[in-house]
Amino acid sequence: MAGGARRPIVAGNWKMNGTTASTAELAKIVDGARALTAVDVMVCPPATLLAGFAAAVAGEPVQIGGQDCHAEPAGAFTGDLSAEMLRDAGAIAVIVGHSERRTCHRETDADVRAKALAARRAGLCAIVCMGETGAQREDGQALAAVDAQLDGSVPDDASAEGVVVAYEPVWAIGSGLTPTPTDIAEMHGFIRRRLVSRFGVEGQGIRILYGGSVKPSNAKELLGVANVDGALVGGASLKADEFLAIADLYR
Ligand code: PEP
Repeated sequence: MAGGARRPIVAGNWKMNGTTASTAELAKIVDGARALTAVDVMVCPPATLLAGFAAAVAGEPVQIGGQDCHAEPAGAFTGDLSAEMLRDAGAIAVIVGHSERRTCHRETDADVRAKALAARRAGLCAIVCMGETGAQREDGQALAAVDAQLDGSVPDDASAEGVVVAYEPVWAIGSGLTPTPTDIAEMHGFIRRRLVSRFGVEGQGIRILYGGSVKPSNAKELLGVANVDGALVGGASLKADEFLAIADLYR
């Protein structure tokens, strides 16, 4: 896809939500996704549900992703999961560097880069998250903060197939707040230029998602911005009808 039209993705980050009963919600997503041929629809459930969800979507137009991975392929890392394990369970992608991981687990850009490399090693697409805090935006440091995260978190071998960038302003996640379309256009244009200057034609093909309080009522405006190639959706991805309403914008 490098250099060509970028196929949009709408990915749902379920975070620490969902039990086996949620398979019914997944089934509704699968039903709705069958009509959506112009967008990749992805669900990133908690690890406990990943293998079951992957089995449930086999042959269907819904992809499954993990929410995090360890950088090592295996070993004495209690409670962690490797990229290889996610792949084995049926994931095709994994979110790395989500702001909740960066904050709650003190993950650095170097950690995120190592996880993105692990994803590639395992054959997964790495969805690399980044975004400024509210204080950084107020200080006029939003572009600089994201620039540093881009440099530090995205591996040197990034390709259009292997990496997706998710711009998620920390202050917009779960808050109901969003940047203005002008601010999103500025940030996504900036990220695009940085990706192209670093990766050339591959950088043109890398998809850049917007994430942070996307819901059906604002998705049209947010996803219509230049260089927004889809959305990473948290809260609104837990309800099939809301999630599908967002993905349906790409019909
Ligand atoms: C997220 O955490 O990735 C996210 C975008 O959350 P929300 O949509 O709930 O703001």
